[in-house]
Amino acid sequence: MNILIFGPNGSGKGTQGAIVQKKFGVPHIETGVIFRENISKGTELGQKAKGFIDKGELVPDEITIPMILNRLQEPDCKDGWLLDGFPRNLAQAEAMYKALQDANMRLDYVIEIELDRQTSKNRIMGRRLCVNDNNHPNNIFIDAIKPDEKDGEFVCRVCGGALSARADDQDEGAIDKRHNIYYDTETGTMAGVNYFKERVKVIGVDGVPGVKEVSEDLLKKLG
Ligand code: AMP
Repeated sequence: MNILIFGPNGSGKGTQGAIVQKKFGVPHIETGVIFRENISKGTELGQKAKGFIDKGELVPDEITIPMILNRLQEPDCKDGWLLDGFPRNLAQAEAMYKALQDANMRLDYVIEIELDRQTSKNRIMGRRLCVNDNNHPNNIFIDAIKPDEKDGEFVCRVCGGALSARADDQDEGAIDKRHNIYYDTETGTMAGVNYFKERVKVIGVDGVPGVKEVSEDLLKKLG
């Protein structure tokens, strides 16, 4: 089972990706994770990639495309994979499609979690972390998981614990930069999504409802 998953930062792509990964039992290959692992291990690849990642730019295609195509050749991918974070632009989409054709590999599913830019941004900026448990979801912009209020302060809706925000979730400039790449229909990620739409069936899911509703819709469409 070979699967691609698309969705803007803040759309819940990571959460839904983990659910899909569980359903099909294929390795979840996330480009960003591979880069971060290489950076923390200080590899040559990590050193080359770090500067771009720190600036919120894409790592150049000459580095990223062969890295991912080689990763898909590894033994754990022989029965399939779920690729998340690649392709991220039109050139990567074209290279991916061509490599799959050359290797006679098919794409079983292409998933797109659809969410408009403002909602995605609110989701990121509204995210709050509970001091007691990372898995207590709180978001000041999502009604279903809105924190409680106590003495004029937001507190965890699950346990009443104090809440904090991640610094990178509050960096509007960095969020905008990433969304500029995602929503770009000329050469960016959406251009890649549209490239696939012209060639294969893309399963679209509305990312607006809650995690449970989105995953139910997605699992139903995956059959
Ligand atoms: P992510 O964790 O998916 O948000 O990725 C973190 C960073 O890794 C991105 O901001 C990019 O700098 C880099 N990156 C991830 N995927 C790609 C890709 N397909 N092409 C180029 N750079 C990427």
